[in-house]
Amino acid sequence: MIKDNLQHVHDKITQTAKECDRDPNQIKLIAVSKTKTCSAIESALNAGQCAFGENYVQEGIEKVQYFRQLSLNIPIEWHFIGPLQSNKSKLVAEHFDWVQTVDRLKIAKRLNEQRPDSLLPLNILIQVNISNEQTKSGIMPDELLPLAHEIARLPNLKLRGLMAIPKAETDPNQQRIAFEQMFNLYSTLKQHYPIDTLSMGMSDDMTTAILAGSNMIRIGSAIFGMR
Ligand SMILES: *Cc1c(COP(=O)(O)O)cnc(C)c1O
Repeated sequence: MIKDNLQHVHDKITQTAKECDRDPNQIKLIAVSKTKTCSAIESALNAGQCAFGENYVQEGIEKVQYFRQLSLNIPIEWHFIGPLQSNKSKLVAEHFDWVQTVDRLKIAKRLNEQRPDSLLPLNILIQVNISNEQTKSGIMPDELLPLAHEIARLPNLKLRGLMAIPKAETDPNQQRIAFEQMFNLYSTLKQHYPIDTLSMGMSDDMTTAILAGSNMIRIGSAIFGMR
């Protein structure tokens, strides 16, 4: 079941990449496993999926630790993709490989200080509130360059790019506009920093995101079923 779902998502990536003349191997799939069990993650691992996204610190860490003590041969990559409060930043710095939701310098500085020396630098995406939604996390586009400038100087962090969760639109054209704005921001930032990741697209809008230039999609329900 999970294996079939993964295959279906990969087929969709391949087909969409073809439509816009891109290499499907350059589009990375993050399986969003929030609220799902370790055994569901294991099924995905057995089907070849090895990058996972978690939204909640405690739940995520339990899963990271569970798979660490199994000492599998496959390296698993853990992405933190939920809102991050500063009192939880240490746990994230110690257990995750990526944080996709950095939207203020204070959090970045804490992650930098708390990242253990024994680990590689923590990969960072800056979250942009591209649809300008009051309730959403993320910085406004005009705050991007100053924040990126500060983050790029922190030695235990590695700035990799941008992440966004655009507002869901019923009109695909509207949806496309937000993704394209993100791609433009990404292209601008790339002129200044050696970044390589634009994380956007979820189960319902992955096609539009890929067509607009996303190279990392975060897929939950299309792989693991409804939450
Ligand atoms: C839950 C979540 C996803 C996955 O959403 P689906 O619609 O289930 O694919 C992706 N990104 C973030 C930040 C999420 O919180």
